[in-house]
Amino acid sequence: MTASDVRVPFLSLKPGEDADALRAAVNRVIDRGWFILGPELEALEAEFAAASGAAHAVGVNTGTDAIALLLRAMGIGPGDEVITAPLSAAYTALAVMMAGARPVFADIDPERHTIDPAAVSAAITPRTAAIMPVHLYGQPADMTSLAAIATRHGLALVEDAAQAHLATCEGRPVGSFGAGAAFSFYPTKNLGALGDAGAITTGNATLADRLRRLRNGGQRTTYQHDEFGVNSRLDEMQAAILRERLQRLPAWTAQRRAIAAHYRARVAGPSVHVPREFDAGHVYHLFVVRTPKRDAFRAHMATQGVQTLVHYPKALTQQAAILSESPASCPEAERAADEVCSLPLYPSLSMADADLVADAVQSFAG
Ligand SMILES: *Cc1c(COP(=O)(O)O)cnc(C)c1O
Repeated sequence: MTASDVRVPFLSLKPGEDADALRAAVNRVIDRGWFILGPELEALEAEFAAASGAAHAVGVNTGTDAIALLLRAMGIGPGDEVITAPLSAAYTALAVMMAGARPVFADIDPERHTIDPAAVSAAITPRTAAIMPVHLYGQPADMTSLAAIATRHGLALVEDAAQAHLATCEGRPVGSFGAGAAFSFYPTKNLGALGDAGAITTGNATLADRLRRLRNGGQRTTYQHDEFGVNSRLDEMQAAILRERLQRLPAWTAQRRAIAAHYRARVAGPSVHVPREFDAGHVYHLFVVRTPKRDAFRAHMATQGVQTLVHYPKALTQQAAILSESPASCPEAERAADEVCSLPLYPSLSMADADLVADAVQSFAG
């Protein structure tokens, strides 16, 4: 598909209705002349914590750092196992490895695409320190079951919420079920910066304090390095940009849900499966369908001018860098990796374009 044939791009990262506000935010930071650990980050942390129903938020460089630092702040590291999902961005598992711990994969529920609580129970060993579900595509994992397992076995529960800003599970905000949650503000995420950024939310003030030290070289006060920390600070420019976008996030989330509802009403057929919505708190980071004829489906969509992507073409159990650390097989995740296909879905997608996408799916699905 050449660029001129594209009628509905998968995504456009160029700022739209918020462009002027973002430019003003950048200018505000330039005029202030304060670029690291300043008033914008402090305000963003308070505002993001409030929006997420958490007592504290700590800004860091990336979602990957958010996971790794959260685990480290909880004392999880070498010798420990963290049970997590095999269908996710590779960074989920790489972050566990960054903390020095070993990712252990429990297979997914093939309809929900999030970690299967029964598989989690089966994966627990004496070395298990934590369970870390991923709220994949913006759909919360089955947190009620996972929290019960964590309590029964005395394990920590942490959430990879990189795709699930403002999502709820049975009415409760994601991130509020365990010790803490990691968010990413990578540009494609529901709340995206114009660069890399991430944050941890937690209800635990001691954990938040430790995270603030760990992200800043382990310093308790300036030039007083008491523990091994890293350099992972969300800068003022990105914080100012994220504050502008956070104000718009509830409306954008409503638009994502409206487009998803439209797709659900219009897309069906024997050869394309639309997995059901398990929780109304789904925030539709991605709208993912499944088909065993994925290559043909994507080629068909391309001829109709619709760009699609695959999240993810390999399960984490099939990634060489992770496999060497954690050999395992998860047949449901591996089958999903062969069949999943993401349709365009973003707040600025018009309903006319959503119709075009739905028509294109329909004409393939039969
Ligand atoms: C994006 C993402 C990450 C990593 O976040 P970065 O900000 O890119 O480091 C981790 N987990 C999941 C599920 C993600 O989608």
